[in-house]
Amino acid sequence: MGGTFDPIHHGHLVAASEVAGLFGLDEVIFVPTGQPWQKSDRQVSPAEDRYLMTVVATASNPRFSVSRVDIDRGGPTYTIDTLVDLRAQRPEAELFFITGADALAQIMTWRDGDRCFELAHFIGVTRPGYTLADSDLPAGRVSLVEIPALAISSSDCRGRVARGMPVWYLVPDGVVQYIEKRGLYREGLRHRAPAAVSGGEDPTAPANRPAYDRPPVGPGPAPDTDSPSDYQEVPR
Ligand code: ATP
Ligand code: MG
Repeated sequence: MGGTFDPIHHGHLVAASEVAGLFGLDEVIFVPTGQPWQKSDRQVSPAEDRYLMTVVATASNPRFSVSRVDIDRGGPTYTIDTLVDLRAQRPEAELFFITGADALAQIMTWRDGDRCFELAHFIGVTRPGYTLADSDLPAGRVSLVEIPALAISSSDCRGRVARGMPVWYLVPDGVVQYIEKRGLYREGLRHRAPAAVSGGEDPTAPANRPAYDRPPVGPGPAPDTDSPSDYQEVPR
């Protein structure tokens, strides 16, 4: 499963688990995209942070693993390169490439799209708010799978952190802690005075609660929109 994973969230994990169950997959390999790459108009977090969050999120599932092929290759990620590298590492394996229905909608414009379909069976997972007509896709090489509705996106998670809102239960606990530890996505909090709890004050008063547990002050930065252009084979 390819993705930016900035950060990885439960939508990704449910999608992977659902597809693994339906197709009887032995293993799901999460492949974070390489760097440098400007996704839409924002700076993507460092590859090592995205890689480590993906490792943390998948560590407890023996069928989930994380590959560094796109990160170590460097530069923009093209799915054909991902598939060629994974094929070289696993010559005997039957490859399935899991991606979002939004990305799949762009698939025909991908670099070496035809070869991609030769190397792997593509599985497009739907997310609430996306629909996909399969009429333009190669027959027999693509499957569409409906994922139990989880309207979670990485953009929303980043926007929440920037506004001081919680991301607990949207991402795995270890990822919440990693984001906090590394100070990721906090641009919106930079100018905010730190919460001070001193004797006699009510620790439950909004100003005294930790940032992630406080209601937002002001509108905060607008979260990234999930524009389809993110998914052209212009890197994922
Ligand atoms: P961003 O909001 O930054 O675009 P994202 O949530 O779409 O991030 P990606 O890393 O781009 O996350 O996701 C990789 C793939 O997983 C994409 O093709 C995307 O469509 C799919 N995906 C993401 N969230 C969900 C979800 N909640 N349910 C099903 N598929 C999802
Ligand atoms: Mg996206």
